[in-house]
Amino acid sequence: MANTKYVFVTGGVSSSLGKGIIAASLAKLLQARGYRVTIQKLDPYINVDPGTLNPYEHGECYVTDDGAETDLDLGHYERFLNTNTSQANNVTTGRIYKSVIEKERRGEFLGKTVQVVPHITNEIKERIQILGKSGNYDIVITEIGGTVGDIESLPYIEAVRQLKWELGDTNALVIHLTLIPYLSAAGELKTKPTQHSVKTLMESGIKADILVCRTEHELSDDLRRKLALFCNVKQEAVIQSIDASTIYDVPNLMLEEGLDRVVLQQLVLRMDNVPDLEKWNDFLQRHRNPKHQVTIGLIGKYVELQDSYKSILEAFIHAGAENEVKVNVVSIHSEFITNETIAKQIAHLDGILVAPGFGERGIEGKIKAVQFARENNLPFFGICLGMQMAVIEYSRNVLGLEDACSLEVNENASHPVINLMEEQKNITDMGGTMRLGSWDCELSEGSKVFDAYGKRLIAERHRHRYEYNNKYKEQLENAGLKTTGINPKTGLVEIIEIPDHPWFVGVQYHPEYKSTVANPHPLFIAFVKAAVEYSKNNKSAKVSQG
Ligand code: GLN
Repeated sequence: MANTKYVFVTGGVSSSLGKGIIAASLAKLLQARGYRVTIQKLDPYINVDPGTLNPYEHGECYVTDDGAETDLDLGHYERFLNTNTSQANNVTTGRIYKSVIEKERRGEFLGKTVQVVPHITNEIKERIQILGKSGNYDIVITEIGGTVGDIESLPYIEAVRQLKWELGDTNALVIHLTLIPYLSAAGELKTKPTQHSVKTLMESGIKADILVCRTEHELSDDLRRKLALFCNVKQEAVIQSIDASTIYDVPNLMLEEGLDRVVLQQLVLRMDNVPDLEKWNDFLQRHRNPKHQVTIGLIGKYVELQDSYKSILEAFIHAGAENEVKVNVVSIHSEFITNETIAKQIAHLDGILVAPGFGERGIEGKIKAVQFARENNLPFFGICLGMQMAVIEYSRNVLGLEDACSLEVNENASHPVINLMEEQKNITDMGGTMRLGSWDCELSEGSKVFDAYGKRLIAERHRHRYEYNNKYKEQLENAGLKTTGINPKTGLVEIIEIPDHPWFVGVQYHPEYKSTVANPHPLFIAFVKAAVEYSKNNKSAKVSQG
């Protein structure tokens, strides 16, 4: 195909309407019709990337193969499309300004006054078109973060207006996602907020081509007609997006509403190719009909905000469907795990996952949880900080190194079993300086991880500063904590496991980032399987005791 087509997704009326899911669902449908699609997120905040944001502020920071620390919506894009995103797929105002200011310092603007229009808007337009110009995509979907009318999003809206004008209506279109609130006192759905939001967009010179309306109730034909008339869109371009029980239902709901057809029609692209959603629907079928259920404890410290562990929760959904098991995840705040409470908090579970994290808060609770799982043969999965806690626990309680710790938590630990790599020692900038992105890892044959992956060489995504201290490797191995995954170039330990335990695996990387609907992550699949085994054995043990 000669030229790439662009779809912009803006939001109105309220934040948190799920632009990311709508963008990902549309992309899924277009992909299922054979188009090459990617999605990009533009975020109107001044952080250069979300890597420095507290998870309480913005949810999980998602990491791509090329080491970009990005918005969690990119996780949805990858999970839906089963394709990789990269640095180019997430751009923030901070990054735009940084690059414009750097150009100004280099004198690239030849003495001109540098302004929001045209310099910032040009930079935004360039970033939007980078993906299109790569020649790899037929359609690029760009989601504009924030809500129309926000001061912060104005330069983005102006850039979209200009691009739409430059590219023409058959090459670029705007989808406006909005809310149709239901007033229970009046027993009515209300269109006025949407009319205002479309008008606000119009004040910036943009006419929405398609309205996607979030609603708790079905939109009647009359209401659709009214929305079309007052918002100046075709009636078939009023798309209902009714609340769904799972985000994975949204592509089918959008297919029923004809979202993909309206998009293809306006972009003058063929639509005789029927969407192939066979694999997707097969996953949904298994997700909806579990034969068994297990309960996993997610031990972390950002548990108040579900979005903090988004990719982990989604990876459980994928692995659950694969095993035809419903995985109930209960969050347990590691700060509140004590010797007195631990049995009550953990003993009834079928497995625990000790989560990634930063800083010292909640560390001791995590270590206690690891010990409980190790001593009680409870399936254990440690991710990043969770793996580091397993190394500390083993060093303290099996090797007897009492003050074994991570240098992140105790700078003066006499046994820094988790330490800082040489190249990290002189780093002062916090943003973008961790060990990031995809790194190779070689697995030991005969290990649980080798069984799970079914191959020797894997590559997984990292985001951490601290590492397993190889000085303790021999001691730990001899005491039974095996290192079953090593980086072949650096010799860094990426995986630990206890062979005598039913399932005790800790990984320095983040497997959750690579789990998708089409490719559930092998370690999550194996962990859920181990939890099912544990629950079956435990139940039969309880029955025989009773
Ligand atoms: N805080 C730890 C480190 O930087 C672990 C990071 C993580 O869990 N992502 O090494």
